[in-house]
Amino acid sequence: MKSEKININLFELKKISEISKIIKQSKTFFIAGHVKPDGDSLGSALALSSVLKRLGKKACVYADKVPDFLKFLQGADKIKKSAKKTDKFDCAIILESTNFSRMGDIITPDQSKKIINIDHHSSYENFGTVNYIVPSSSSTSELILNILEYMKIKLTKSEAESLYTGILTDTGRFQQTNTTCNSHIAAVKLMKYGIDVNSIYKKIYENSSIHALKLQGLALCSIKTIFNNRVSYIALTKDMFKKSGANDEDSEGIVSYTLKIADVEIGCIFKEVDKKTTRISCRSARNFDLLDVVGRFGGGGHKNAAGCTIEENIGTAIKMISNVLKEKFDDKKI
Ligand code: 5GP
Ligand code: MN
Repeated sequence: MKSEKININLFELKKISEISKIIKQSKTFFIAGHVKPDGDSLGSALALSSVLKRLGKKACVYADKVPDFLKFLQGADKIKKSAKKTDKFDCAIILESTNFSRMGDIITPDQSKKIINIDHHSSYENFGTVNYIVPSSSSTSELILNILEYMKIKLTKSEAESLYTGILTDTGRFQQTNTTCNSHIAAVKLMKYGIDVNSIYKKIYENSSIHALKLQGLALCSIKTIFNNRVSYIALTKDMFKKSGANDEDSEGIVSYTLKIADVEIGCIFKEVDKKTTRISCRSARNFDLLDVVGRFGGGGHKNAAGCTIEENIGTAIKMISNVLKEKFDDKKI
């Protein structure tokens, strides 16, 4: 059976060909996604690093942390937290990062001769020597697969597993609005390398600690709706973490519950980091553009999934986000 072809336009092809040239010319690589990396950041970075090593290059993935549910990815145990100020690279490949700093300032731009910026976020800056940015793509992993296919590189099973993890997690298991024909075609291509999708699914989604489930219970009991059921939100307080014994990572995924209520268009999680800091994660259905909301507070992401941090206590942060949402509802008279 022949696979369908991934749809790539001329603009993308030009970028991919430039990236391929730089990769061929470079010997040493720095690879990093954004701080607090997710499945797509680490999946795409690890697959790329593994391929580069097979091509005889020196490559290392850097990240501030590796969440437990992604430790099964091949190479996750080799990830480094920091680089030396004296380290120099031929090429830094920065994935999923609005700007150079969002990868956590592990190196400065002058530590690398070339910078390749690959991203699918809607809020981005062209900070690279080459910028391959496709906001309509489900994930950076999908973009990495495009590059590797262009370079005619066959993947190992573990590399396919890493890229599949990126697509699976960034599309919300192929259910979110960013899921496209290309994401499914990419999944087919990756499955042909013999990956076990059920085992990947179980490692990522059915591997919770009991504390995570208890935290979910507390979160669900406290969910509120406002603006005539158009918005739902959960305030995750320090107290809830203490009662459930959960850690920060255990709160991953709770935001997806907020859109389960009929009629809800926007769902938010407010996480109390400390008395003066609140971390916000939002999801929206269809047309509501969250970037307009989180952008007011220096955040970013995608139209339907975005986040920001507000340096205020959780109650004030809830009011601040509610006020912006009200303003948007009033503006549009909807
Ligand atoms: P999450 O809600 O899962 O933390 O993030 C949703 C999306 O928004 C992800 O693509 C993430 O990279 C992006 N995002 C979350 N918080 C921030 C932020 O503070 N700044 C930027 N630029 N992007 C963010
Ligand atoms: Mn991503």
